[in-house]
Amino acid sequence: MPNLADETTRYRLRVAGLLRAAANDLKRDEVNAAADLGLTLTEYRLLLAGQADLSWELIDRAAKVWPLNERDLLPVRDDAPLGVLIVDVAESAASSRTLRRGGVDYYEYRDTAMSRLATFRPEYIRMLAVVDDDDPANSTVQWNDGHLLYQFTFFVGPVNYYYKSGDRAFCVPMETGDSVWGVPYAPHSFTARDRSQDAYILALTYGGQLVGDSQRELSALGVHAAGSIGLPTGQSSNATGAVLRDLLRARLLTVAEVAASTGLARARVSDLCAGAASPDPAERALLAAATGVSERDLMPRDTRVADGVRIKRRATARQWTLPAAGAAAYRICPLAGDPLHPDTTAAQITVLGEAPDPDLLRTYQHTYFYVLDGAAALLRWEAAGVGHSRLVRPGDSGYAKPGVGLSFGAADGLVRILLLRIGCAVTAEVRYALSGFTDEHLRRYLCEDRQWYRPAGRSANET
Ligand code: FE
Repeated sequence: MPNLADETTRYRLRVAGLLRAAANDLKRDEVNAAADLGLTLTEYRLLLAGQADLSWELIDRAAKVWPLNERDLLPVRDDAPLGVLIVDVAESAASSRTLRRGGVDYYEYRDTAMSRLATFRPEYIRMLAVVDDDDPANSTVQWNDGHLLYQFTFFVGPVNYYYKSGDRAFCVPMETGDSVWGVPYAPHSFTARDRSQDAYILALTYGGQLVGDSQRELSALGVHAAGSIGLPTGQSSNATGAVLRDLLRARLLTVAEVAASTGLARARVSDLCAGAASPDPAERALLAAATGVSERDLMPRDTRVADGVRIKRRATARQWTLPAAGAAAYRICPLAGDPLHPDTTAAQITVLGEAPDPDLLRTYQHTYFYVLDGAAALLRWEAAGVGHSRLVRPGDSGYAKPGVGLSFGAADGLVRILLLRIGCAVTAEVRYALSGFTDEHLRRYLCEDRQWYRPAGRSANET
């Protein structure tokens, strides 16, 4: 078991890092910062040393006297200090609750593994309503109002999936292993087609970058601002034109100036901005150079969503083994996803080997897994150079931090595991910044440990 005292200490040190970083950003030395916060220098230094708790009164005071938010001084809780958090099938069953809709029991929900570190909100949901047709207008079907979180859904048994797009309603009969990825706020529902068979879904909702700081920032900016800064998706010339117009506005550029600096005809730049045409590769390179961005920044995010969803049938999925050469450890069956979310990966993996290399399942993404069926599997993981292991069984689920090596080994036959990986607050911009940090800079970024200058001074040759 992780040492809770250590966790308290680490949390306090993360508080200290945020407080130190905030004071540095605001160019307050220790004396100024302590005075602003109504603390003695001794009290302030105890906080910076991780030897005192941050009180709500102090957070309140900081948010009043400094241009920051209460949230800026609050670190996240690390509930997976060993790298992996497991919720076993008994714990999941203990969270069972039946929700009624339209006066009847409609779903049984059970929580599965969730961490405070990632935006997964994965539920096991059993369908209690049974229908005998595929009609979206069937009166047994109780629709929801849609929800913010993206929803990746994995189907087990004879489940009907219902979704709406605008005024149109759809029903898709699903089979075990089928999956769907859906965008926010689309109303949807699920029923069973056969009372005698188990029919459930794994509804793996997640917020990604829609929740957290971006949602809080936009909430304060308001509906008008939020509505005005959206970008179209897809590869149409309308979408590329919108991206180009957006960039010219951001860069204070005009069509005439872009034409002059790229050598393109003014009429052509006008057409590209208006969405009457898309730039060819040579034009894109010229436009990128003229606007000071990477060529990728001129390309809209692609999507293949139809009516708000991407449906993937198990029967037609192309499968492969991992690794490709030598003894295969896993068979990979890709599940629903979309280019809108390049950091999201969904797959069903079948465990083929006894003790695969944990490096095979190491990734920059947050990982959620659910043991679907089969025998017990030996889960091994490696976090920060330390190895751990335990058995996992069908119905067990888990969360693994980015960078943790994972291995599922099956000594007693095939085991199938549902895997969903997502990106989160660590965007591509952050990852590019990290690659430019030295080890010392990285440690300071994670937990600032010093004032940004030395009161006694520092000469050029001092380290
Ligand atoms: Fe949902």
